Amino acid sequence: MTMEQHTTAVGLPRAMLYYRYHTLWSAFFQELGVETVVSEPTNREILEQGTALAIDEACLSLKIYLGHVAALVGKCDYILVPRVSNFGRHRNMCTRFEAMPDLVGNVFRGAEQKFLTCDIDVLEKKDEESAFLEMGRVLGLSAKAAKRAYKQAKKAELAQYRVRVQKQEALSRREGIRILIAAHSYVAEDPYMGRAVTDYLRQSGVIPLRADLVDRETALKRSRELSPTCKWEISREILGGIAQRRDQVDGIILLSAFPCGPDAMVNELILRRVRGVPMLNLVLDSQSGTAGVETRLESFIDIIRFKEGKL
Ligand code: SF4
Repeated sequence: MTMEQHTTAVGLPRAMLYYRYHTLWSAFFQELGVETVVSEPTNREILEQGTALAIDEACLSLKIYLGHVAALVGKCDYILVPRVSNFGRHRNMCTRFEAMPDLVGNVFRGAEQKFLTCDIDVLEKKDEESAFLEMGRVLGLSAKAAKRAYKQAKKAELAQYRVRVQKQEALSRREGIRILIAAHSYVAEDPYMGRAVTDYLRQSGVIPLRADLVDRETALKRSRELSPTCKWEISREILGGIAQRRDQVDGIILLSAFPCGPDAMVNELILRRVRGVPMLNLVLDSQSGTAGVETRLESFIDIIRFKEGKL
């Protein structure tokens, strides 16, 4: 099979920025006739493999990510490992995202596997579009085709994100106890991290809302109400989401993967600055995972029900 036939297969590890970019990536590759292979949702094997590959100090999200990369090694021509440094001034990503291609290249240095990167670093004049054109170039595709595919993919991404935000809006108006989950999307949605929390809330008759699923531009502006100096893009989106939803919810769960530098600081700030809403700080690690989480969620929901005279 040759690249000219556009049958190259690109692996997408189902972790970390996959949860932010999967529509954009999948639509882009599909437009170009490039096949994509997505790793399975996180399972025990992926978690254990990732934990074995990472240094102990790595955050749980990174351990899980390495497990997903391992699951794709040898199954595709390239594995997409993005490097997202920043979207401009005071719009940085956690340094792990900046180091990811180097880190993965080092961990898998013995493997005969090619990696593809999507390098976004606006401060170094590498915006999202140029990162996608570069991916197209590496795959042997014309700049014109890549540009067209990027534009189409961007439309698909916007439409999909709009639907998700609208669903959140509808949920925020539903009658019942509403709890806002403040977490990075890859923590909130991973089956071995936040999914257990959302599932438990639903089973308990609580409406879970997500702080990260809000209009991003508005969220960035409103994040200043809680912190005018926070420089991490995703944390700012979450802060903005809390600023938007705090009056609509009965409680807030701060959900993090251990050890997370940005969350350690930002969650402390939220606990100090957001008053009048019950809050639960949940930190998940690779040893205990979601064990014990149900008990803490149960007590948290009871506190809210008791406060509202529903217990
Ligand atoms: S923001 Fe936190 S959870 Fe995410 S990659 Fe950085 S340290 Fe890990």
